[in-house]
Amino acid sequence: MPSQFRRYEERLRHQQQQLERSLLTAVEQGRQTVAEDTPDVADQAVLSYQKEMIFSQGTEGHNQLSLVRLALERLGEGSFGECLHCGQAIGEKRLEALPWTPYCIECQEKVESGEIDDMVRAA
Ligand SMILES: [Zn+2]
Repeated sequence: MPSQFRRYEERLRHQQQQLERSLLTAVEQGRQTVAEDTPDVADQAVLSYQKEMIFSQGTEGHNQLSLVRLALERLGEGSFGECLHCGQAIGEKRLEALPWTPYCIECQEKVESGEIDDMVRAA
């Protein structure tokens, strides 16, 4: 592994642990919310809103966790730091801010605008 990537590895592992922990909490909260019995209609509206919030938090966490895991895998393979789509080196500032990003800034914009398929989420 190139030495400049070692510090990212530590940050990624830390991020992975945090995400795994917060996802477990989200699942726990979701279970508790579902288990509660509330006949009141207003309460049910609040509950379904809460469930949705927990669900979307969980989904987002899952997506990020997949990215973090992928980045760690790519660190191991030696392809970390290369854009998954175009193969160009991802800028160091970008990696510094988002060490789990699989795309360079140009491809990220294209993924967000739907111009190219998100190879990570499609998988
Ligand atoms: Zn790219």
